[in-house]
Amino acid sequence: MEYQVGVISGDGIGPEIVREAKKVLDKVGEIYGHAFSYDEILMGGISIDKTGEPLTEAAIAQAKAADAVLMGSIGGNASTSPWYQLPPHLRPEAGLLKLRKSLNLFANLRPAYLYEELKEACPLREDIIGDGFDMMIMRELTGGLYFGNRVTEARDGVMTAEDTLTYNENEIRRIAIRGFDIARKRRKKVTSVDKANVLDSSRLWRKVVEEVAAGYPDVSLEHMLVDNCAMQLVKDPKQFDVILTENMFGDILSDEASMVTGSIGMLSSASLNDTKFGLYEPSGGSAPDIAGQGIANPIATILSAAMMLRYSFDLDREADAVEEAVRQALKEGYRTADIMPQEEAGKAGVTQVGTAEMGSLIAERVKK
Ligand code: NAD
Repeated sequence: MEYQVGVISGDGIGPEIVREAKKVLDKVGEIYGHAFSYDEILMGGISIDKTGEPLTEAAIAQAKAADAVLMGSIGGNASTSPWYQLPPHLRPEAGLLKLRKSLNLFANLRPAYLYEELKEACPLREDIIGDGFDMMIMRELTGGLYFGNRVTEARDGVMTAEDTLTYNENEIRRIAIRGFDIARKRRKKVTSVDKANVLDSSRLWRKVVEEVAAGYPDVSLEHMLVDNCAMQLVKDPKQFDVILTENMFGDILSDEASMVTGSIGMLSSASLNDTKFGLYEPSGGSAPDIAGQGIANPIATILSAAMMLRYSFDLDREADAVEEAVRQALKEGYRTADIMPQEEAGKAGVTQVGTAEMGSLIAERVKK
């Protein structure tokens, strides 16, 4: 099959890490008989430099025409880069928000997976880690508290601020369907997280999630209150498969879940709409402190490309092969600087490599 991938290399380490993900995709194409063509889309600081805007209408049209978009990262050093002298709507990050909105990307997926080889980076106790954990946080991205009406005003002489948390049943249903579909591709368990003991929006959330669950008899559903979930993530993360939750709860829980896995250079993410289209990107930023040095970790971007294969192209075997190639490279002791603990430096069997070498090592390990 032929797949058209929109590519936003972006700023900082973006072009370096995206190059390696393309290397791995090309290897997948070669082995499995697919053709990936790439259409470079301008966004972020590089777009400001070339067009005066962080995202042009032409760039949005390019993204819409692609089967999926693979992104590096955008932005620069906020204290030194001239991009941050511009008004907020013309800064690099405004491009990303505009893209998410234009493409109606309402479902955000962040896997939290602990690699056996990187256990040292996990701040949890050995007996809690056990043989590792593998969960997916599915966060609603375009509704709830962050998008509701807000106002700050004096009421009866007292300064008062108000934020509104609104969800309608359609917004809940579409993300729940996505969550159950994804659980079907995994260990078939959904934990729906809410605050139904207090909030009306959560009670509606729970009702609609239960309605959706009725159509997925092969997937088990449990409900968990958000305060309990925050505790369970550090007490027993192994219990989770897919965590399905609304915007603000997901914002907080996804950061908590990713912290327990260690380095930011390992964390992939996807934002999906109600078609097969998705935007795939590493969770980290453009890392201006290490840009251009050839030392950035490309694994999060490579794993984001694997998510693209799985969720936009339904190429599960190919996605498995990429994830296995990453595991194999780690197992053989290859590490970029960010995942190289000081005490391992110089040890036999552990080799520090740069961005391009890590990309090549992973590409070479993609097998049929
Ligand atoms: P950052 O994630 O870029 O960097 C934080 C730290 O993590 C740095 O020390 C960096 O070197 C390290 N790091 C990040 N990715 C790495 C990788 N792949 N390999 C090795 N080390 C890595 O966060 P920041 O410094 O706060 O932000 C820098 C810029 O990135 C800002 O302009 C910010 O707005 C932007 N940003 C963009 C996105 C995005 O494109 N989606 C996300 C977050 C931040």
